[in-house]
Amino acid sequence: MYEGAIQDLIDELGRLPGVGPKSAQRIAFHVLSADPADVNRLAGALRKVKDLVRFCTSCYNVAESEQCRICRDPRRTDEVICVVEEPKDVVAIERTGEFRGRYHVLGGAINPLEGIGPDNLRIRELMARLSGGAIRELILATDPNTEGEATATYLALMVKPMGIAVTRLASGLPVGGDLEYADEITLGRAFEGRRAV
Ligand SMILES: [Zn+2]
Repeated sequence: MYEGAIQDLIDELGRLPGVGPKSAQRIAFHVLSADPADVNRLAGALRKVKDLVRFCTSCYNVAESEQCRICRDPRRTDEVICVVEEPKDVVAIERTGEFRGRYHVLGGAINPLEGIGPDNLRIRELMARLSGGAIRELILATDPNTEGEATATYLALMVKPMGIAVTRLASGLPVGGDLEYADEITLGRAFEGRRAV
């Protein structure tokens, strides 16, 4: 334990996700010995992210204006919406270069154990977008885990009666893996997605 400012910094750093006490201490002493200009840039970046970044009013991706870059892009189609859990999923899908539609960021997944139900996610906002009538297909790209599956199932039940095509990203069994070692979700999906050979 140190005194004053250095301990305050260690405490704050230690509250960040993925930063344990040892890392917090290492970063704090790095900051202490770093060039003041570098530290000012870091402090500025921290302040700027809170001042400038907000959520897109259409899709709830991170944005620096009313709408995010993707929602402002006139070359993308309004007919397909891809539903994801977090803004980082948007980045991951954008990196594939395969998708030219719009997104909807839920802000998480249904997780009864942590008290997260449909009302805690941006599902009402999604339904409002879908009722506009322009949307042809909804792609469910929630995570391939229990919570993501539960969320996708819930959304499919809500959306299918609206006459909108609902699709789920295919996820195959790991190449070279044994069936018995695949988790049940992956295996179940592989069965559903089976095709004639
Ligand atoms: Zn947006």
